[in-house]
Amino acid sequence: MTANHALFSRALAVLPGGVSSPVRAFGAVGGEPIFYRDAKGARFHDLEGREYLEFVMSWGPMILGHAHPRVEEAVRRAVSRGTSFGAPCEDEVRLAEKVRDWHPAVEKLRFVSSGTEAVMSAIRLARAATGRRRILKFSGCYHGHSDALLVAAGSGLATFGKPSSEGVPEDFTKWTSVLPLDDEEALDRFFAEFGGELAVALIEPVPANNGLLLQRRSFLERLRERTREHGALLLFDEVISGFRLAKGGASERLGITPDLATFGKVIGGGMPVGAFGGPIEIMDLCAPLGPVYQAGTLSGNPVAMAAGLATLEVLEEEDGYARLEDLGAHLEEGFAARDRDRPFPFRLVREGSLFWLAPRIGAEAPRKAEDLPGDLGRLYADIHAALLERRIYLAPSAYEVGFLSTAHEESDCDRLLDVLVEILEKEG
Ligand SMILES: *Cc1c(COP(=O)(O)O)cnc(C)c1O
Repeated sequence: MTANHALFSRALAVLPGGVSSPVRAFGAVGGEPIFYRDAKGARFHDLEGREYLEFVMSWGPMILGHAHPRVEEAVRRAVSRGTSFGAPCEDEVRLAEKVRDWHPAVEKLRFVSSGTEAVMSAIRLARAATGRRRILKFSGCYHGHSDALLVAAGSGLATFGKPSSEGVPEDFTKWTSVLPLDDEEALDRFFAEFGGELAVALIEPVPANNGLLLQRRSFLERLRERTREHGALLLFDEVISGFRLAKGGASERLGITPDLATFGKVIGGGMPVGAFGGPIEIMDLCAPLGPVYQAGTLSGNPVAMAAGLATLEVLEEEDGYARLEDLGAHLEEGFAARDRDRPFPFRLVREGSLFWLAPRIGAEAPRKAEDLPGDLGRLYADIHAALLERRIYLAPSAYEVGFLSTAHEESDCDRLLDVLVEILEKEG
């Protein structure tokens, strides 16, 4: 019995599915999850000391790679001063100032401890600011697991939110409308009927939780226009894209400024941090200044703030965004070169340092969840297992994107592609 199997058996006895978050359980690809022993840069070791090249990077936060010396040093220094105060600290103000300086939508922000909390709180704020109840989301976009947002991908006009989890009463999702991505007509019809009662439309500007469903800029512009016309707010959920695609996230990259933005993942540099921000007049509705209650015992935690701040500082000093773009381009070009020789059964979709192996359906990359075939998982499961045998770790789900970090080298991208070619050749 391997050490991994023994530990997973113990985990199964005390943790549902043996994990603390469901995708990690490998249910979508089969097999057992691999326990990390330690990680450095773009690599980690399993319990037996085998080394893997990885492209998950804790689902995004480790944009500088694991255990970056500057982040480690900042965390050590912070820990030595005390791990939690429940009172304001200097790094909290410094990190907040940086977010405000970098992100076009943020004049003020509040820290929380996860992306879920950030979006949940931002919606409460948006409802208070507009005095309206309805919210609009897009199928395929993930915004954390708060009740009102756990709504099934529904197509058609203004599908009334049907919970996609047991334990969520329909009463809790009846104000959540769902539309398909990439569909201006559905958008216009929705706004004509419900625009006047909409508090906020929320979207991942670069949807990266159901594959990478890159949107046409004109679709996002239409959403910006319609929300403005109808007095509703626009929220960009930048939990993945924030501080990854640019200093100002997808908002900067696309040149579209939302009213509110939410953050997570990179902003904590590997520690649990989320944040939501927007214009002063809206943010000042938060308690203690305003009537919107929102709080957190560990919010603005000094160790987490230090990790986030160090991460953003290194990205800035070392021109991280240019490096990530170059790496992403290298991966994309390498894919195209190999694809010419022997067409892959999938295409590589990329935006900055995010990438996805998309099914080859139609002439273009898929842009909405409804276009994805139902059996996406089978081919991926085989590839995932074969990659693991070659010590390359991709996300254990066909619907999750890959993440590059500044610790990846061009040779790491080449290795991924070369091994992919080998696997496909062997599978015929
Ligand atoms: C990961 C994610 C969340 C949820 O963040 P957690 O920290 O896992 O709660 C919300 N929105 C988006 C876009 C995400 O990718």
